[in-house]
Amino acid sequence: MMVSQPYRWGVYGLLAAVVALSIAMSAWISSLSDGIRRGATPLLREKVPMLHHLGEFESALLLHQLSLNKYFANSISRERFVMLERGTRRDMEANLRFLERQPAHAESVAKVKQAFEQVLALTPRFNAVADSGSPDRVEAVLYELNARTNEIRTQVDMLQREIEDAVYASSDTIVRNIDQFGVLVHFFNFVTALTALFMIYHVWARLRSEDALAHQAVHDPLTGLPHRRSLEQRLAQPQAQGSTLVLGKLDRFERVIGSLGYGQGDQLMFDVAQRLGAAAAAHGGELFRLDGAVVAVLYGGEARQDQAAIAHLRSELQRPFKLDHHEIFVTLSLGLVDGRVDGGHPETLLRKADAALQAAQRSGGDQLVAYSAALHTQTLERLDLEADLQHALERGELELHYQPQQHLGSGELRGFEALLRWRRAGRLISPAEFIPLAEETGLIVPIGAWVFEQACRQARLWSEGRETPPVIAVNVSMRQFQQPDFLDSIRRGLSESGVDPRCMEIELTESTAMHDPDKVLAVLDELRGLGLALAIDDFGTGYSSLAYLKRFPLSKLKIDQAFVRGMKLDREGGDACIVQAVVGLAHSMKLTVLAEGVETQEQRARLIELGCDEIQGYFYGRPLNVGQADDFLGRTTPAVAGLVDGARRGNRPLMLQEPLLAQLVAA
Ligand code: C2E
Ligand code: CA
Ligand code: CA
Repeated sequence: MMVSQPYRWGVYGLLAAVVALSIAMSAWISSLSDGIRRGATPLLREKVPMLHHLGEFESALLLHQLSLNKYFANSISRERFVMLERGTRRDMEANLRFLERQPAHAESVAKVKQAFEQVLALTPRFNAVADSGSPDRVEAVLYELNARTNEIRTQVDMLQREIEDAVYASSDTIVRNIDQFGVLVHFFNFVTALTALFMIYHVWARLRSEDALAHQAVHDPLTGLPHRRSLEQRLAQPQAQGSTLVLGKLDRFERVIGSLGYGQGDQLMFDVAQRLGAAAAAHGGELFRLDGAVVAVLYGGEARQDQAAIAHLRSELQRPFKLDHHEIFVTLSLGLVDGRVDGGHPETLLRKADAALQAAQRSGGDQLVAYSAALHTQTLERLDLEADLQHALERGELELHYQPQQHLGSGELRGFEALLRWRRAGRLISPAEFIPLAEETGLIVPIGAWVFEQACRQARLWSEGRETPPVIAVNVSMRQFQQPDFLDSIRRGLSESGVDPRCMEIELTESTAMHDPDKVLAVLDELRGLGLALAIDDFGTGYSSLAYLKRFPLSKLKIDQAFVRGMKLDREGGDACIVQAVVGLAHSMKLTVLAEGVETQEQRARLIELGCDEIQGYFYGRPLNVGQADDFLGRTTPAVAGLVDGARRGNRPLMLQEPLLAQLVAA
């Protein structure tokens, strides 16, 4: 849950307000309880004891009055009367002393006391008249005594009412305070409950977002599939021991993104994940998305991978995907590692599966490669090769060999094809081994530029003093051709060597030429404008659009060696017919035709019959290093041309190593 900054400040503000409110409420409550205490303390410490003592006082007073009257009526003895009189007087004095000590109601207490003292003053008189034996006088004193006693009782009653009033008043205040206290407590509880609810909501939201984060930490947000980290965790668990791991990558996924955009690419990935997930689950496998177009299926425990499981994965992709009115067909390259055979650390297992996947991709995609020790060695070798290739150029390990091409009409040398060699640790490595790697890593760009420059320099040297200098053909790969500064590197090679551009020829394969042919056309026009000759290499092995072929400013088609090789097997049909057709096609477009891979006199003769213009192959000459090519050139100057021709009439391939040729060159 992401909350906005104002919302966040709102929450902090609210909590601060609740804290402030609770402080204020505490202060308020303590002042209220203070009030209650202030009301209750005098009530308990003064008023209630006062009422008690007043009651005691009144009882003693009544007993006193009663004893006087009883004594007068002779119903008690004198001794008893004296004892009672003293006892009640003591009680009354003691209670009165307590009442006097209370500051409140002092005035009323004083009045009671005054009346009491008057009563007390009457007692000696009563005793005296009682002793005199005159009933009338006794009655008179008794009468007065009763009257005064009643007066005290009235005073006591008044004091009692006074105290009671004070008690009611303060208990009213206490009740009011308690009521307020109750309201406050209820309000406070309400606010606390609201805050608690609010906090509960936030804690819940927080926990939920923590859950979401925890999910995201191990899941891919697009497909919802567990991602690389979860796969690694899963592989690290003991129960994953011996499971089969299959890595899959969508072939040419970048092309979908390139033409339909990332949004559609995501959609495609999502749809693919749905289908693959179901197919994997059907065989007890679990699908993970590693990154980009790479997924992994882990078949663990009992649910072992088998042919059917893999076939199911692949068959799921046979139905096209529908994206924005487009039907997209996708294929999957698969790399498999069997944990029972090639188990190990999760990282190792992943690396092995990845090596297998890369091998599947290198073989053109849409296939399954299972990891093996041989593959491992291959991968390591490739890594070494790649590392070394990085330095090959700067260490001067690259060199060009030149394979001569013959003009069939005149029998003369027409030119050379420059073929790259890598002298690695004393061994010459064929371009077939390292050009694909150079293409993959992009190293082909500086290497290709170096090749062209080198070939230009050589062409310049060989053109000196020759009326018809040899044409040097240079191979250009797709990646190199597509570089934005490809034309610049060609211009630089030409200008720095000072070679006549007519001595240079560029060879492109059909696939390079037909990949985005409009763009290719523009580049070819530029190259042609510079004066270079243009040839299509390995013609017949790819797919060419004749419409484009016609529009391209080409000068030559090179028939692939496979057709030349196939020619001898069936003299009449098959490959001979293809060669014948290509020758016809090329001539109709005013193009020269060169046949590659000519190894025998027989093939050469047949090609002449079929109308081919030029040949290249072991029969006329193998790829030669510069020195050998120099010699070859020298030999074919008019002075030795006749001798060479004579040698060739013996129907034998022209090999430089042959003693006969060595003699010829020496001559
Ligand atoms: P490619 O352009 O088709 O070159 C012809 C290949 O056929 C060369 O192999 C050559 O040695 C071989 N060859 C020539 N005559 C015969 C023959 O009579 N019989 C047989 N069996 N083979 C013959 P290489 O030199 O190994 O080159 C292989 C490929 O490497 C070339 O095929 C070309 O596509 C690529 N390549 C070579 N040099 C360069 C370069 O400088 N740049 C780029 N981009 N690619 C290059
Ligand atoms: Ca070539
Ligand atoms: Ca070729």
